[in-house]
This record gives sequence, structure tokens and C-alpha cells, in this order.
Amino acid sequence: MNLTDIQELDIIDPFAKHREQFQLPENKVYLDGNSLGIMTKATETRLQNVIQQQWSQDLINSWNDHNWVNLPQTVGEKIAHLIGAEPEQTICCDSISVNLFKALTAALTIVQTQDSERTVVLSTKDNFPTDLYMVQGVAQFLGQHRCQLKLVDESELEQHINSKTALVLATEVNFRTGRRINAKQLVANAHENGALVILDLAHSAGAMPVHLDDWQVDFAVGCTYKYLNGGPGAPAFIYAAKRHHKNMSQPLSGWFGHARPFDFSPEYEPAAGIQQMLTGTPSVLAMSAVDAALDVFKGVSLEKLREKSLQLSDVFHQLLKTHDLDDVLQPIFPEQRSERGSQLSYHYEHAYGLCQALIQRGVVADFRAPNYIRFGFTPLYNSFEDIWQAAEQLRQVLAENEHLDPRWQQRNTVT
Ligand SMILES: *Cc1c(COP(=O)(O)O)cnc(C)c1O
Repeated sequence: MNLTDIQELDIIDPFAKHREQFQLPENKVYLDGNSLGIMTKATETRLQNVIQQQWSQDLINSWNDHNWVNLPQTVGEKIAHLIGAEPEQTICCDSISVNLFKALTAALTIVQTQDSERTVVLSTKDNFPTDLYMVQGVAQFLGQHRCQLKLVDESELEQHINSKTALVLATEVNFRTGRRINAKQLVANAHENGALVILDLAHSAGAMPVHLDDWQVDFAVGCTYKYLNGGPGAPAFIYAAKRHHKNMSQPLSGWFGHARPFDFSPEYEPAAGIQQMLTGTPSVLAMSAVDAALDVFKGVSLEKLREKSLQLSDVFHQLLKTHDLDDVLQPIFPEQRSERGSQLSYHYEHAYGLCQALIQRGVVADFRAPNYIRFGFTPLYNSFEDIWQAAEQLRQVLAENEHLDPRWQQRNTVT
């Protein structure tokens, strides 16, 4: 594959025009949208307006006049379109970690009302740590008689679901390996065995089609700063299937989750639906950014997006092979396309140095301990020529041994 072939792919790319909606960084190939998505131009315009008009001029009236008060719902519904959720089940708020606390406590209560013997939360050893930490916190909060974390290998998750399992907490796409589990099958299996499922969509939402309703997922969480381009630390989302709303309760019972917050009643009375998952006042600046960013997905076919994402990863790996680098960098991602997320991860002894040397050359990938390098592909703004450039710079770094530079012996706080 030469550069002309690659440029052909860009010409026929159905998303080539979408790239123009992003504030692309200068002289960079950005393959880190799986950590922090690129800002859209609409986000910048929107934030200017929120600051210069809504906040500085209209102030308190903006809660009504600019619909600040409904941002969690309006943004939630935009996200719902991307995760296969019918309305009134998705809301934007807090972080994944906090939303996991709500989902875990709500789901445990639902299951244990039926069967108090079900106390195990089953998850995977290499799940994203915060997911596991939150279960540990809930176990401490509720006690071992209500919550015990059991960790198993990702490939054996379904085998371990039994009569003690209350919940399965799974991340659809593994943040390290980029491996995608079969969520539909997992949910079917869990339900057959009397357990509920909480699905983490951090590396799925905005990167591929997700069908929460069809798959019958019980609860889901996800973030908006990765493939949804909402901005650093942007608020996350939580989904609760409608069938659980009447039995659902969660202990972070703040006033925004009240049935009538502006009655200022001393008694907490939870709102009927998904709104009950809210706790405090929404972060308006941050949520406005997410709201604007989501508009790039208008009219986008997630099936086509997925196809481009897989094609970007195919081309990248193919180019590494052409450069004879596929055994220098050892793939830890699944060979099967259907089992892949929107990133490729490789094991390499000097992954940290390699990552830094690439950044020095304008190719942004990221490093995950102990020695993995991840390349994230974001179909709405990554071109095939980006991929070609990345592979070419990678070849040069390794040929010049730039990854062994003593400067890379010391690691930054955020990797
Ligand atoms: C990025 C990520 C998170 C982040 O959680 P926050 O609480 O929003 O910081 C959680 N889970 C997974 C799987 C992730 O990839």
C-alpha cells in the first residue's frame, strides 16, 4: 500500500467532510481520541456564547431562558440516540465513577429484594480500575453481606455467573487490549441465571453502534470526553432500563433527583424516572460543551462509522507489517474484527519511550502501564493519511532509536 492508495481511501471516505467540523490541532496526527476527543468548532462557538451572553448577561434567568435546568435531560437524549436507548432512560451527570456508585447500589437493591442470597458482583481482573474500586467502596459501604467483588478473566466471565451472582459489571471494550466482548450474549446469559448487568460504554459510545434496549442491558454508564468529544473531564452519562424505574433507588439523593426540587421540601421524594439519578446542580459550562459536541453525530450512521474505524485499524496494522514492525510491536488486540474496539494496542518493551518519541514527532498515541502503546482511531476526524503518517513516523523513530533517549526514562504524572 503506497501513499496514493491511501489518499484514494480518503477521497471515497463518507466522513471526509466531518473532519472540517473539528478544531484540528496544527501539525499533529491525533490518535488519542480514546482518551480525550478533539474539540468541535461548534463547541467553541457555544462556549463563547454561554460565557459572553448566557452567563455574563442573562445570569440567573438562563436556568429557564437558556434551558440550563434541563441540560442533563437534553444531553442525555442526544447520547441515547448513540447507544440504542429509547427516550427517558439516559441522563448526563457526574463522572463514570459516581454513576457506577448509583448503578451498583440501585441494581443490588433490585436484585436483593427478590433474593438476598445474591451478593456477588462479578467483574473482570483487567477492567478499568475505577470500576473495581467503586465496587470495593460499595462493599465497604453496604457490608460483605450485601456486596462482594469477584474478579475473573475476561474470557471466563460468563462461566462464573451462578446463583450467588447479583450483578455482572462489564466494560464492553477493554481499555487496555481494545478487546470487545459480546454484550448481547452476556446479558442473555446473566438474565437466564437471575443476575443483572451493568455495562460500561467508555470505549464504545460514539465509536460503534450500541444497542442497549435490544440487548436488554439493565444499567449502563459511559463518559463523554473520549469518542464523544465533550471536553476534558466532561460529565458522564447513566442509563437505566425503563423496566427498573419503579423499583429503583439510589442513595445519592440530592435535590436534583427530587420529584419537585423547587418545592424545597424537607422530605426527599425521588423523581419517577431516570431523573432520580441526578444528585446536584449540573455543571453548565461543561454540559453545554457536551451538548454542542454531540451535534457532529447528527445524521451519522454508526454502522458506517464502525466500518471506517475497523478499516483505519486494518490499514494501520497492515502498514506496520509492511515496515516489518508487527513482531517488534506485539499485538494484544483480537485478530477478529468483530472483537475489536476502535483502538489497537501493542506490547513493546520500550512503549513509554516510543510513545514520547512519537509525540515529539507530532503523532499522539498513548501509553498504558506496564508497557503497552495504544493507537485510537476516531472515524469522524482521522483520515487514512493520518494513519499512513503515524506508521511512517513510527518506522523512523524505531530506525533512529529515538525511543531509547534518556529523556524518556522519567514518566509524566498523566500517561
Ligand atoms: C475512561 C474510563 C473511565 C473513567 O471514569 P471517570 O470516573 O469518568 O473518570 C471509567 N471506566 C472506563 C472503562 C474507562 O475507560
